[in-house]
Amino acid sequence: MNDNREKERLEREAENARINFSANVTHQLKTPLHAISGYSELIANGMATGDDARKFGFRIHMEAQRTLDMVNDILTLSKLDDYAEMFNEEEIDFCSFICSIVTSFKTMAEMKGVLLELKTSEPDEEKIIMHVSSKLIRGITECLVDNAIKYTGSGGSVNVYAGWSENSRPVLVVKDTGIGIPQDEQENVFQRFYRVEKSASSKTGGTGLGLTIVKQSAKRLGAEIQMKSTLGEGTEIKILF
Ligand code: ATP
Ligand code: MG
Repeated sequence: MNDNREKERLEREAENARINFSANVTHQLKTPLHAISGYSELIANGMATGDDARKFGFRIHMEAQRTLDMVNDILTLSKLDDYAEMFNEEEIDFCSFICSIVTSFKTMAEMKGVLLELKTSEPDEEKIIMHVSSKLIRGITECLVDNAIKYTGSGGSVNVYAGWSENSRPVLVVKDTGIGIPQDEQENVFQRFYRVEKSASSKTGGTGLGLTIVKQSAKRLGAEIQMKSTLGEGTEIKILF
């Protein structure tokens, strides 16, 4: 009897989560689509011409890009949620793999005036060869480095470490000297669409799905997430594989 009640409760919870997620997705997609519709209408009916038309064209492009990023993130999450979906495993040299991903963020960091540095384990240490889904490791690394740069102001720094942990587990550490996350928000940031500064979305262009992808990917990989953050000082996120 109790088992049945518990089962019903869990089913209700899952159903509510699904409804909430759909409502959130709809709401999040509506905002950029409204902007695209409005600006393109002004150009189409000749109300915006010359410089204005170019400015609106730029906005349309930005909002369309944002929508596309969001749809891609939602697709990634639904694959991560679906346990029938398998991720291909392959052999990777962990440190070189992380190095190639971090290198692709050099321009973004330079444009923001943020110093981006990468350290890997010493050359005389044993190489870390993993048999994993490189797609999942890439997703985690991209989300963490993107956040670290995005939430760090000019003059700050982002340090990435890929190598062995103190207790000989492969570890990825992304540490920044950015704005930090308030203590009471640190649990919440892994939830879908959760952002600390709601008004920041237009400034930093985020959706609040990055850390959910990190959490779900880590779960798939059997990896552990550790977070340390101090408001105004910075954030460090560790992924222990
Ligand atoms: P996106 O979906 O584009 O990644 P996002 O960056 O807003 O959008 P998450 O990556 O899930 O979403 O992060 C959730 C929130 O956690 C962010 O909006 C930000 O408030 C906070 N956050 C995440 N990483 C950091 C960080 N390194 N420093 C400070 N705040 C952070
Ligand atoms: Mg993010």
